[in-house]
Amino acid sequence: MKKLIYLDNAATTKTAPEVMEAMIPYFTEYYGNPSSVYDFAGISKKALDESRETIANALHAKENEIYFTAGGSEADNWALKATAEAYAAKGKHIITTKIEHHAILHTGEYLEKLGYEVTYLDVDEFGVVKLDQLKKAIRPDTILISVMFANNEIGTIQPIKEIGEIAHEQGILFHTDAVQAFGQVPIDVDEYHIDMLSASGHKLNGPKGIGFLYIRKGVKIRSFVHGGAQERKRRAGTENVPGIVGLGKAVELAVNTMEERTAKEKELRDYLIDRVLKEVPYTRLNGHRTNRLPNNANFSFQFVEGESLLIMLDMDGICGSSGSACTSGSLDPSHVLLAIGLPHEIAHGSLRLTLSAETTKEDIDFVVESIKKIVTKLRSMSPLYEDFIKQN
Ligand SMILES: *Cc1c(COP(=O)(O)O)cnc(C)c1O
Repeated sequence: MKKLIYLDNAATTKTAPEVMEAMIPYFTEYYGNPSSVYDFAGISKKALDESRETIANALHAKENEIYFTAGGSEADNWALKATAEAYAAKGKHIITTKIEHHAILHTGEYLEKLGYEVTYLDVDEFGVVKLDQLKKAIRPDTILISVMFANNEIGTIQPIKEIGEIAHEQGILFHTDAVQAFGQVPIDVDEYHIDMLSASGHKLNGPKGIGFLYIRKGVKIRSFVHGGAQERKRRAGTENVPGIVGLGKAVELAVNTMEERTAKEKELRDYLIDRVLKEVPYTRLNGHRTNRLPNNANFSFQFVEGESLLIMLDMDGICGSSGSACTSGSLDPSHVLLAIGLPHEIAHGSLRLTLSAETTKEDIDFVVESIKKIVTKLRSMSPLYEDFIKQN
């Protein structure tokens, strides 16, 4: 197999070797059920407690505020559905944004069918939530504001502290989907006035199928899975002990390496952005120039079809992602790119590249050359581009 250049770390990441190593004994040796009474099970129980402590410390939260889930989607579903149920007597209005992950958007649509009202806030051209619009959207029956910490497509980081302040001034709960941000930017749930926060293992070099929901003490929230007494009776099911151990290790690594790793990623990200914008004409950067995830670059190439670009990059061994989601044969442009105001045809020519700690300058140089070659080729086959060049 030729060299793989993996630049799709917003989709998932490689499990770190240290994480694998930490997990293995909990498959092979310490397989006890943490709920059992004998000493052997106590080893599993202790591992859960340690992971919970690591995660709580990373957020400046308390251990009993961390609830393990089967990933980010479950945590998002739980936060919205259980809050809606527990606070229905106060009101049935929820505020979120147009650029959330589908785990939030589709849960919102589901709640609308149950009689809740959901306001989807606009964002500006950089993908930032408009705070004045948020303030205006708040009503006496608003029970929850859910705004993602950082966007998975365009990388824009939201003014989370300001949003949290607005929510708390009005006595409204604040949830944030931090699946992309956790491990990449420092988060303090008190400073940011966060009541609930979703995160996922596989987005930060941990295993897939494990994540957590932070729930601030005092928030009324219903059980998500009914059954045994695990997770303080709120999320039943024998714990995914190896996964939880792996998640804890991944969080420890992410926190310990954050400063150095993200500084290096930012430098390479900016190098990539600068070269592409300079060397590929009729190209734009999506998202905020500086206030974005350290590893995210998202471009739109005019007169280029994103899916073709991806396929040709794949032939060069490059893994990226386009802004289009291929649903049942029809190519819908990304809801995020439409929300920042891109016309359909521009949104269709988009490419997201997300770096990792392992990405090198040589990788980026190779990728830029490949993009230049492919974009030139695709444009040479485009009648629209031909007309455009004739007219200019
Ligand atoms: C990946 C992702 C999710 C879903 O997490 P899973 O663990 O894959 O279920 C939710 N929100 C955002 C922003 C994501 O990037």
